[in-house]
Amino acid sequence: MDYLPVFLRVRGHGALVVGGGEVALRKVRWLLKAGARVTVVAPELHPELLEHVLRDGVRHAAAEFSPELLRGTVAVIAATDAPQVNAQVAAAARARALPVNVADDAELSSFIFPAIVERSPLIVAVSSAGHAPVLARRVREQIEALLPERLGALARFMGAQRHLVQRALARLARRAFWERIVDGPVATHLLAGADEAARRALERELFSARLGERTGAPGEVYLIGAGPGDPDLLTLRALQLLQRADVVLYDRLVSPGVLERARRDAQRVFVGRAAGEPGQQERIHTLMVSLAAQGKRVARLKGGDPFIFGRGGEEIEVLAAHGIPYQVVPGITAALGAAAAAAVPLTHRRLAQSVTFVTGHVSERPAADWRFFADPQHTVVFYMGVAQLPAIIARLRGAGAAAVHPAAIIERATWPEQRILRGSLADIARLANEQRASAPALLITGAVAALGAAETLATLAASDAAAGAVA
Ligand code: SAH
Repeated sequence: MDYLPVFLRVRGHGALVVGGGEVALRKVRWLLKAGARVTVVAPELHPELLEHVLRDGVRHAAAEFSPELLRGTVAVIAATDAPQVNAQVAAAARARALPVNVADDAELSSFIFPAIVERSPLIVAVSSAGHAPVLARRVREQIEALLPERLGALARFMGAQRHLVQRALARLARRAFWERIVDGPVATHLLAGADEAARRALERELFSARLGERTGAPGEVYLIGAGPGDPDLLTLRALQLLQRADVVLYDRLVSPGVLERARRDAQRVFVGRAAGEPGQQERIHTLMVSLAAQGKRVARLKGGDPFIFGRGGEEIEVLAAHGIPYQVVPGITAALGAAAAAAVPLTHRRLAQSVTFVTGHVSERPAADWRFFADPQHTVVFYMGVAQLPAIIARLRGAGAAAVHPAAIIERATWPEQRILRGSLADIARLANEQRASAPALLITGAVAALGAAETLATLAASDAAAGAVA
């Protein structure tokens, strides 16, 4: 280890920054955040530095650097573009045993700035000891995506409850208690911004801890939208909760790429339907409830968004009825994934003023709906519709849609095997047949379905993967 990783307290103390450019500006910002009294030494100031002088009480010494300026400071930063000035600052600081950082010069520096992930009061600092700053930044980005935005709020909340817990519980019980807090519903509530629910959950935890109940963290369920398939389309929160879950329940619409993002040692349970089997919904309900009752953190991964034709509504009813804490994480629904992949804008100022997401079970819809769907200025996305294609087309035509009414089928949108078929009501069924289009696929109808025929990056990649697709 070339450096000792420490956090330096500078609040209320003087810090000197030599240099008035952009690098100096960045350092001044950090120092101000940490509460230092900053003095900037430079003949001229970057306009934003000038603002800090006017607004934040930064002192400006419009002079050359001289060692007397070091008096009363606890940290020194040299950020001029003149190497000899930087060297002079470094030498003067070292002579007074003051920690000094020279921008872009690890040799002259006695301390360096790490790349940081800030969830104050929680801070993660990453450094490559100057060997590979780009790598350190990349690591920082990865951690950034992993740490929930409200982790700082959780840390503050725990800090605020410390005295209460200290009074209520013996030292030995406290550690287990806090572990239950970070691993259980209190943290989940706080990270989702439900502060009041978190407070109530903490009170319950404290109550049972005082009774000496040696319960593990109570289980909980995350209903997570897995998006259309491409794991890069997961939300950050989906990723975070996938890293937290002990068990993952998934079905056929969840791509292998998404499943790989779950915690390595998480148990994975397939709860989808094999062809011909009856519905699995009852089994899913029973599994969620019993796993959570065992204290497990259960991720119920659902293709697309849990609340778009995903039976997410039924699942949360069951969870609520059993008093199991849950959280819903939205996902990119197949229509949005497919539209982007096929470069079909679902609304368009000239071509489509509205859009409907509808199931392909045609018999459920009244005639008035079909007249609306037949208007080319209205986009319709049919889910679960490939098997019903001839019936859907017949209904649209019967409601007045022209034979040339544009239609597109997007199969396995955003998966490596994605295929896009473009045509009209006159020929889309024949194309689908010839190409053996199969589920999961979406049918998009309306004027906008004729757009996006130019090869986009996504369709190029997809047609590489599935040579012979019609584009
Ligand atoms: N909750 C899901 C939809 C579940 S219904 C969502 O929000 O996307 C299942 C139907 O969704 C499938 O029959 C198919 O029409 C559509 N679908 C799901 N994933 C798809 C994908 N990657 N490409 C095309 N259609 C998809």
